[in-house]
Amino acid sequence: MPITLGIDIGSTSSKCVLLEDGKNIIDKTIYHAGAGTVGAAKAFEEILEKNNLKEDDLDFIMATGYGRTIFKAAHSEVSELSCHAKGVFASFPEVRTIIDIGGQDAKVIRLTDKGIIDSFVMNDKCAAGTGRFLEVMSVILQIELSEMEKHALKAKKPVKISSTCTVFAESEVISQLSKGETTEDIIGGICTSVASKVATLAKRGVIKDKIFMSGGVAQNGGVRDALSKVLDKEILHSDSSQYMGALGAAIVGYERHTKKFREVE
Ligand code: ADP
Repeated sequence: MPITLGIDIGSTSSKCVLLEDGKNIIDKTIYHAGAGTVGAAKAFEEILEKNNLKEDDLDFIMATGYGRTIFKAAHSEVSELSCHAKGVFASFPEVRTIIDIGGQDAKVIRLTDKGIIDSFVMNDKCAAGTGRFLEVMSVILQIELSEMEKHALKAKKPVKISSTCTVFAESEVISQLSKGETTEDIIGGICTSVASKVATLAKRGVIKDKIFMSGGVAQNGGVRDALSKVLDKEILHSDSSQYMGALGAAIVGYERHTKKFREVE
């Protein structure tokens, strides 16, 4: 059975998914080191080592993400949009809209009932409405990204963040802290701010049910809840939301491999 590997080299982390026969996930690894050869190589080496495999044992290595062109071990590369569509649709065939919020951009992808992309909108110009905004705020508040959800879900009256720019929003949060607003209400406001920006982007197209959140920010229940409120829709997610790009890459790798195999036969 063919074994393929998808690697998603993002702006904050590199993710690998090892796939058997185009459908069974054998393992996943993540390395937080931003884009670049170091993070990608570490995530790749770790997954090979954990599974007692050598590079030559892999039938196809497909790269995606911001840094996909610099990964020398890859046999080919493919866009993140296609990969998120493939990964999510293979896992949740009922999904018609994907909201992917990563470290430096946000995308809203609409799928047909066959899983083909029929439209997409993207924000890759502004940090507000992306994971970067949450990262900046986590530094000011000295709260880990993984802890943000816990605080956001305790917010009683989320503060309003009116600045549309991350730098101004940073000053706004500092002034709210000095006014004595609670950390919970501030983080609640931060999550609502990200959700509102992404909802504005999503509303540029038609949003069809079911909606799935992919990308690293999907781990933050504060943003998921806020998005669900602003859009007045249920938002699905999974523990593998951050790996959907890498999973999609591994599936596209499998499709390329089997096509090549059939051509040779
Ligand atoms: P990229 O592919 O650009 O590296 P990801 O899809 O991996 O982006 O998402 C990165 C974002 O995910 C970070 O900017 C951060 O906001 C969020 N994130 C990462 N880890 C966590 C975590 N443990 N809990 C909550 N949010 C997280």
